[in-house]
Amino acid sequence: MRRVGVIGGGQLAWMMGDAAQKLEVELVVQTPTQDDPAVAIAQKTVFAPVDDANATEILATNCDVITFENEFVNLDTLSFLAEKGVCFRPNLASLAPLLDKYDQRCYLRDLSLPVPQFFSLEQANLQSIIENLGFPLVLKSRRHGYDGQGTFIIRDLVTLQAKIDDTTNKSLFLLEEFVPFERELAIIAARSAAGEIVTYPVVETQQEKQVCRRVIAPAQITPSQVAEIAAIAHTLLNSLEFVGVLGIELFLTTNGKVLVNEIAPRTHNSGHFSLDACETSQFEQHLRAVCGLPLGNPALGCSAAVMVNLLGYENSHNDYQTQRQKLAEIPQAFVHWYGKTESRVGRKLGHVTVLLDTNHRDTANTIAQTVESIWYPLGYFNEGNSKES
Ligand code: ADP
Repeated sequence: MRRVGVIGGGQLAWMMGDAAQKLEVELVVQTPTQDDPAVAIAQKTVFAPVDDANATEILATNCDVITFENEFVNLDTLSFLAEKGVCFRPNLASLAPLLDKYDQRCYLRDLSLPVPQFFSLEQANLQSIIENLGFPLVLKSRRHGYDGQGTFIIRDLVTLQAKIDDTTNKSLFLLEEFVPFERELAIIAARSAAGEIVTYPVVETQQEKQVCRRVIAPAQITPSQVAEIAAIAHTLLNSLEFVGVLGIELFLTTNGKVLVNEIAPRTHNSGHFSLDACETSQFEQHLRAVCGLPLGNPALGCSAAVMVNLLGYENSHNDYQTQRQKLAEIPQAFVHWYGKTESRVGRKLGHVTVLLDTNHRDTANTIAQTVESIWYPLGYFNEGNSKES
């Protein structure tokens, strides 16, 4: 399979560009606007929203296989294409339990994988849910949440009631326990068309206002925790018969328990370090899987790495050349700039990965601070911008 259609043209599709060249794969992208990052690396673009199935039909005529860079698709409208023989990887059946956060939690629970306690808001006997969960609790949009949009940490009944009253369709939300995690973790895993599975090193992720700010690879956790997380990835990929890369976000609780927070059925921000730090990046791995090729080696080629997202901190059209230049001067640093024409607060504009010779968490955090001190205006994280919203 040499022509791959990608539904979605953001930075995740853009980062497939180098791997596509290496594997001699042509990328055809479906994305709404000319300014979207992946338009620059696509052989062809079908300009349309990602949930436009008619556009996907056109995409299909140009491709051998279709994959996804985001999960905001409509499976019902795509299923008629699958019936006509269009090849989707991952296939639509393996995406079906994952696109809605409530369905996803049910699927994981039914596989006996560890998840936070959760309830659908529509079953609401709100009183008994609150008695079960207590405050704080977490209210989440079942679909279309990303970067913490649609995730609300709620501390009291008045706020919860106001939020629910604001919501016209309650069935679109779920409620779950607030996990006072010690750390957040993630793992990228891939499964090939032949059923082979590889997992990347487990990483520590650090979020700011529910948006990923830093990733440290590998996470400093016990070998048995690593084994448990890899086993979760294997169970999930095999059960879904998934073909491609997926990201699993997890909580590590204060008593060392692992809980699955979320599955992203695609390449994921927590795996960006693999572009520079691993023999096979998550983007190459994904293309290998969807093209029916054997998987590559996911191992780190260095002791450790730290990835820092370059998040927008203002509304502007700046291309931040000066800051990018300074960041590139950090030893062993790799700057990835997504070429977005507009900066907005919290928007992911690029990232930097720094390779490290030691895997001490303190060293990684110090380097991350260096990156952030170059990127953000002085005092940015001390002026209330780092507080939970
Ligand atoms: P998104 O799909 O927008 O990434 P997530 O469900 O992953 O939303 O939540 C974003 C962040 O919010 C998480 O990384 C975590 O920091 C926090 N969060 C989400 N759910 C919980 C929870 N149940 N308990 C504590 N923190 C949570």
